[in-house]
Amino acid sequence: MYNIPVKTIQGWIDMGKCSLCPRECGIDRSGDRRGFCKSPDAFFVSKIMLHKWEEPCISGENGAGTVFFGGCNLGCIYCQNRAISRGERGEIMTDEQLEAEIFALCDKGASCIEFVTPTHYTRRLAALLSRIKNKIPVPIVYNSGGYDSVESLKKLDGLIDIYMPDFKYFSSEIAKKYSSAPDYAEIALPALKEMLRQVGSPKYSDRDTARLKSGVILRHLILPSHRRDSIDVLELLAREIGAKNLVLSLMGQYTPDFYIEFEKENGEREDCKNLRRRITSFEYNSVLDAANRLGFSGYMQDISSSSAKYTPDF
Ligand code: SF4
Repeated sequence: MYNIPVKTIQGWIDMGKCSLCPRECGIDRSGDRRGFCKSPDAFFVSKIMLHKWEEPCISGENGAGTVFFGGCNLGCIYCQNRAISRGERGEIMTDEQLEAEIFALCDKGASCIEFVTPTHYTRRLAALLSRIKNKIPVPIVYNSGGYDSVESLKKLDGLIDIYMPDFKYFSSEIAKKYSSAPDYAEIALPALKEMLRQVGSPKYSDRDTARLKSGVILRHLILPSHRRDSIDVLELLAREIGAKNLVLSLMGQYTPDFYIEFEKENGEREDCKNLRRRITSFEYNSVLDAANRLGFSGYMQDISSSSAKYTPDF
């Protein structure tokens, strides 16, 4: 299955020492070795679909043309995409195959082309998009966990229209416990500033004012027992980035099913038992109040959408 020649692009992909993301594993992904993201050098794609459940300003009527990459450089223990984030489900694609899939999504009426969990493919994606960007009639969306390196993001300058990163944690302790990334906030903030530098504040289409043309959609998932951390994140963003420079997508639909699966496979973790429940109305409303007080606007997905059925079947 993996036995295809992997084409490297001179000057772009030096997998001899992968440092595409802040993990800086320093390994060669072109052979059998894998770093934290568990991903090969070649594109490893888990699913391609028209995705109707993304934020309405990118989904439109037909859905976002979404490419889910396998593997992930965060590996959150509660991940709702854990079937694919572990890098076990998917197929290798050549650059040409992925290019053909992107144009097929455009032909099906995709409202945008969205790359999900692309951090470990930034340079390969930059090389691909620099060849085909001007032939894609819809915005290009980069949807990451927010744990991106500024240097890699700079390779995407001019190729991405909409950045849609998470900003998951303020606390280093929580980031370490759930995502093995104690430096999460100190990495995610400069990454977000670089994204904003590239695409600017939100701009909507003249033809359809509900459709985002360019800008940053910032996602934040409220976790059980961590409403204070969510508020710290929002205060940091308001102070450092400016509420008006972002479209906020505040997500209240944390679903414990995936963490429960994690515990079944890895054993129970008493220090994370809060992840076995949904968030409460009090937690949701207090974070929502903070978002309003700080002047954010955007989307607030409520607790009623807290179900595994809203997660694509991988
Ligand atoms: S992209 Fe993957 S292999 Fe490269 S540094 Fe990040 S986690 Fe490690």
